[in-house]
Amino acid sequence: MVIVLSRTVIPQLDAKTTPLNDGERDVRERTQVLIAGGGPAGTTAAALLAPQGFDVVLLERERFPRYHIGESLLPSLLPVLDVMGARETVEQHGFVRKNGAFYGWGGQEWALRFDEPGRPATHSFQVIRSQFDHLLLQHARHQGADVREETRVRHIAMTDGRAMSASWSDRDGRDGDIDFAHLIDATGRAGVLGARQLRTRRVHDVFRNIAAWGYWRDSAPLPDAPEGAIGVFSLPGAGWFWAIPLHDGTLSVGLVTDKRSFNQTKDNLGSVDAVYHEALAQCPLLARMLEGAQQVSDLKVESDYSYTSEAFCGPGYYLTGDAACFLDPLLSTGVHLAMYSGLLSAAAIATVLRGETDEATARRFYQTTYQRAYERLLILVGAFYRIHAGRDAYFRQAQQLSHRDQQGLHLHESFLNIITGAEDLHDAQEHPLDLLYEKLRSPLNGRHPHGLGGHGTSHMLPLPTTPDQAAAGLYLTLTPHPTLRPAPGHPRP
Ligand SMILES: Cc1cc2nc3c(=O)[nH]c(=O)nc-3n(C[C@H](O)[C@H](O)[C@H](O)COP(=O)(O)OP(=O)(O)OC[C@H]3O[C@@H](n4cnc5c(N)ncnc54)[C@H](O)[C@@H]3O)c2cc1C
Repeated sequence: MVIVLSRTVIPQLDAKTTPLNDGERDVRERTQVLIAGGGPAGTTAAALLAPQGFDVVLLERERFPRYHIGESLLPSLLPVLDVMGARETVEQHGFVRKNGAFYGWGGQEWALRFDEPGRPATHSFQVIRSQFDHLLLQHARHQGADVREETRVRHIAMTDGRAMSASWSDRDGRDGDIDFAHLIDATGRAGVLGARQLRTRRVHDVFRNIAAWGYWRDSAPLPDAPEGAIGVFSLPGAGWFWAIPLHDGTLSVGLVTDKRSFNQTKDNLGSVDAVYHEALAQCPLLARMLEGAQQVSDLKVESDYSYTSEAFCGPGYYLTGDAACFLDPLLSTGVHLAMYSGLLSAAAIATVLRGETDEATARRFYQTTYQRAYERLLILVGAFYRIHAGRDAYFRQAQQLSHRDQQGLHLHESFLNIITGAEDLHDAQEHPLDLLYEKLRSPLNGRHPHGLGGHGTSHMLPLPTTPDQAAAGLYLTLTPHPTLRPAPGHPRP
């Protein structure tokens, strides 16, 4: 059966299954919503859609728990955990409660407490990602999603530009196809549809960095920092370190720097380990924390180039989380963006499946709101790097948004209602980004920069839940389920 909405033909797939052999249970040949990838983006969408009675299949390549980097979470994702009903599970797991952040950055030191008056969220978590992601995957399953592990999505079949069907294979060599009405690509940096097939991923000129990290035991706590805080320390030359306390008693310590400085130092010193330890020696605050501590893991290395996609969605599909865009880890924004986009895509799909809006409008809402959130954080990270004050001119240059990166940024829209006086950006023909950076850095009531200091709270990263935040004439309501509603003055499309 098909229904026609706004000239878009949407296959209406019911929940019937045609059995294929899968050992434990049969894999469907069709589903209303197919989710590729079971990280935070995919499981958020699955846990929100399945309890509404939609037919949801999630295919995940690995068997969980599996290792993942991305351990420091922002408080702004707590409301998403609330909406998906996973907050209590996460609260009770025993993760380190993150009450703030400590910055030794650009020659200044400051602590940020999330529970200061005026901040909407009081805490977040430092998580061992294998455990956090496993909790969310199990939660999606309990909410009714049909979750298959060790099952890789191989290819998405498109008909007349619309994503229609996916081919998969599992660890035991079985394979098959599954038709869907809507696809959520949540395959992370692998990007099965956007990056690999459609090739719409564009790497930014800025933030072409590389990270090397390892785990330490018996470290000293960070003095003068809120309990459970992330420590972020800039280096006098190029780059910076994170220090994240985890509930197994280890400290995750990661170096981020640009690839050129990294490779040059590696050529000089002979190994990644030597680069990492030489950088540690340049960071007295962190070196003091690690006096008497032992490194208990090998180093892992990953290049963490920032990128975005030409489009975050298209007919029959939504790209979520890292599958859509990736941002330098400086402000720990990745899991927030993943869950935020999981929620937005679930709201868009649910509203379309209920026939309450047409696909094109729902996609415009998704594209606009996700892009705004990403751009806001991209600019914030840029502002942070501007005050890095390292000696290495190449590194400084490599962290500046280039002309090409700036093209297409929606500065005014991205910062509307956040930075007082953002209206001026409209009039700033010449250097709107410079003006924005100035505003972000200017102290408020003698306190640290409001734009930068407030990062990570839902004030900086709001869900578009009021009509004045509407995009494409729609805004988000969260109860009883995430849904898009027409803003006053906008007829239901
Ligand atoms: C060095 C570094 C440090 C970081 N630090 C932080 C931090 O402190 N805080 C933070 O919030 N973020 C951090 N991030 C970012 C964070 O790791 C990601 O943004 C986040 O994991 C994105 O979630 P996701 O659900 O989009 O993707 P992922 O978590 O990567 O999940 C994608 C899933 O898809 C599966 N998959 C892939 N291909 C297929 C396929 N073909 N078929 C089926 N399944 C597939 C994968 O196995 C994986 O489980 C960091 C990143 C880096 C590189």
